[in-house]
Amino acid sequence: MPELPEVESLRRSLAADLVGARIERFDLRRDDIVRQAPDVSKSDAAGLPAGTTIASLERHGKQLAFTARCGRGMVIRLGMSGQLRWGDGRKPDSGSDHVHARWTLRNPAGERRTLEFRDPRRFGGLFPYASVADRAERLWSSLGPDAIDAATEPLVDRIEEVARASRRPLKSLLLDQSAVAGIGNIYADEALFAASLHPCLPSKRLARTGASRLVAEFRSILRKAIDAGGSTLRDYVDATGRAGSFQETHRVYGRAGQPCVRCSNVLRSVLVAGRTTVWCPRCQSRRSR
Ligand SMILES: [Zn+2]
Repeated sequence: MPELPEVESLRRSLAADLVGARIERFDLRRDDIVRQAPDVSKSDAAGLPAGTTIASLERHGKQLAFTARCGRGMVIRLGMSGQLRWGDGRKPDSGSDHVHARWTLRNPAGERRTLEFRDPRRFGGLFPYASVADRAERLWSSLGPDAIDAATEPLVDRIEEVARASRRPLKSLLLDQSAVAGIGNIYADEALFAASLHPCLPSKRLARTGASRLVAEFRSILRKAIDAGGSTLRDYVDATGRAGSFQETHRVYGRAGQPCVRCSNVLRSVLVAGRTTVWCPRCQSRRSR
């Protein structure tokens, strides 16, 4: 599932052509991918009026949103396998390619481009909004601060505050998008390892120093991952079809049974919040330091 670095890489690969682009046409091929729409037809809600210009392309956590000059817009959630890709030159009805929505637009250079959304497993979707205020109220109200855009100290305060109120394993807290937005299974494991924190540490035992270290490590890892274009495990690619390469430097994720890069001890795996979690029993202490 795409996490913050993959969605940010996608955003960057779209921005130059999408921001300032004028929408000419919208084709919706499966209307069940449009979710929680305001009370009009789904195609109308999702389409944005032809002639509208896209004013901004933003990301919060793992979600992307583009807003038109008229104020209306669309949140895009990629779910497990969603993709947003340039599909220029392809025929609109070319077979069972899982294209669920397609925008035809003129980019700022005046070239016609086609943007396609496909979501074969349909855990993602398009979430139209009437205004940025509507988006904040209905679609993004449950999201915590963004893992890289939020200022450091308030983010450490936030993690400490949420942790203090809970006995759940620390990894569950990191996966909780209402605590901090953007981290999923890959980057949670990598960050806990880098911060020498046990994934099953009861959250309320996280000390201030541990919270500071955790925030510093996950921000550093997320930034490096963005520089590498994200991690491609199965099907993640950016809008130009380019895969990420950060998976080559994962230190624990996907490495259960292999030696720890720091101490050579065998890495173990355990299920936390229903997700496979890989950790080093020697480097990651259950005590909060
Ligand atoms: Zn180790």
